[in-house]
Amino acid sequence: MRTTVVWFRRDLRLADNPALVTAVRGATRVVPLFVADGAVLSACAGQPRAAWTIACAAALDAALGGRLVVRRGDPVVEVVGLARDVGATEVHVADDPSPWGARRDAAVEAALVADGRALVGTGSPYAVPPGTLLTGDGRPYRVFTPFSRAWRAQGWASPTPAPVGVPWAEGVASDGLPGLGSPVPLPPPGEEAALARLDAFLDDGVAGYDERRNLPGVEGTSRLSPYLKTGCLHPRQILHRLRDRPGDRVFESELCWREFYADVLARRPDSAWAPLQAGPGAIQVDTGAAAAEHFEAWAEGRTGYPLVDAGMRQLHAEGWMHNRVRMVAASFLVKDLHLAWQWGARHFLAWLLDADLASNNHGWQWVAGTGTDAAPYHRVFNPVTQSKRFDPDGTYLRRYLPELGGLADAELHEPWARRGGPPLGYPPPIVDHAEERVEALRRYEEVRGRGGRR
Ligand code: FAD
Repeated sequence: MRTTVVWFRRDLRLADNPALVTAVRGATRVVPLFVADGAVLSACAGQPRAAWTIACAAALDAALGGRLVVRRGDPVVEVVGLARDVGATEVHVADDPSPWGARRDAAVEAALVADGRALVGTGSPYAVPPGTLLTGDGRPYRVFTPFSRAWRAQGWASPTPAPVGVPWAEGVASDGLPGLGSPVPLPPPGEEAALARLDAFLDDGVAGYDERRNLPGVEGTSRLSPYLKTGCLHPRQILHRLRDRPGDRVFESELCWREFYADVLARRPDSAWAPLQAGPGAIQVDTGAAAAEHFEAWAEGRTGYPLVDAGMRQLHAEGWMHNRVRMVAASFLVKDLHLAWQWGARHFLAWLLDADLASNNHGWQWVAGTGTDAAPYHRVFNPVTQSKRFDPDGTYLRRYLPELGGLADAELHEPWARRGGPPLGYPPPIVDHAEERVEALRRYEEVRGRGGRR
């Protein structure tokens, strides 16, 4: 009799799950575990992602025929306690390279070892585990393009099917999943739904991805990010399906950004909340009551700049925001309102279903010019130009800003410029973009060269 535990965290699926395959090998009983830890459910993320995680865990439970053993509480106590209860000497996991996950796993591992047991890590939520790739002179990558070359050269294994005939443990006591309400509607959760979404995207969406991915008014992207976050789908499964479609390199490249940011964060855990580059990170930011008011207007979608406001309202309505609009909304907070990028990053994490410390905070740092971008100073997104270029007929703006519904296409992007000003219920711009752009560049000039990269 050999019992093993497989502890599901950011890998809520049965197919292509190397930790599960390792747990099953030679075992006569496998206990599938999920720990509903208050900290897991709130760590660096808000209610939408917590509810989404629980929904995906429930889908996994259904796929396991209701055998998922749920423990509520501190993983250090619960994982060791369960392993002891079921007589398992090994607890299998996919490594979680996030700073918080790594700390948790070190604590769980120490407690297991003290109890004469082991934490066995196999695989990670990435095609190439963060921390693997090094430049020619043995340093971590800081620039995306060379990283992406090394990442492709490294390659990844083909996905494996879900193991069959697993001797899942029966009758192990479970606390059950907590019922969590979500302030946003959740997509269909789970592995099957993720694969269906991938199929649909590969059939219909990926062909025009290069152009359509920038248009927030159309379904031009995969919307797989929430599934990747909970591991209902592994990037390897996507990359494998792309292998015979060399035209889809742009999509592959986007997946690589996810891997790049995870690598950067794993190497520099402090860069979750501190600037990766000390020089531009020292830029002067606004604080105080006026700054707080500006932040509130931004968060509530009341800046008077339609593309920014539509994005923030999409975030609150769906727990997701189109990538181009994430960039524009983030740029507006940092470069038009001169607020600390961390304020915006925290707000995004609180609302996104795909909330991910690496992709989010390094996405913010990229926009703020404190991150991996080699030439960060001059890029200031113009919210009006971006809106005219990427949502010319206002499909996206009209969807989230009904107060602008009656305006002609040409008026939508800068409603303050029409005769009579913005329509009733929509605010005038809270700042003047042209003036704030100059101010942002002045502040960047001030810190330019100061400190440099660390
Ligand atoms: P697709 O265009 O279909 O791309 C496929 C996958 O590639 C995505 O699911 C995602 O895993 C990855 N990807 C695409 N673009 C990026 C990118 N720029 N950086 C990293 N990975 C990328 N993504 C998150 O998953 N979680 C976040 O918390 C997050 N916060 C962001 C914050 C800001 C300020 C910015 C600018 C970007 C952020 N992104 C984040 C990246 C990107 O916006 C989302 O991954 C993308 O919009 C998800 O939609 P999709 O699945 O339809 O993407």
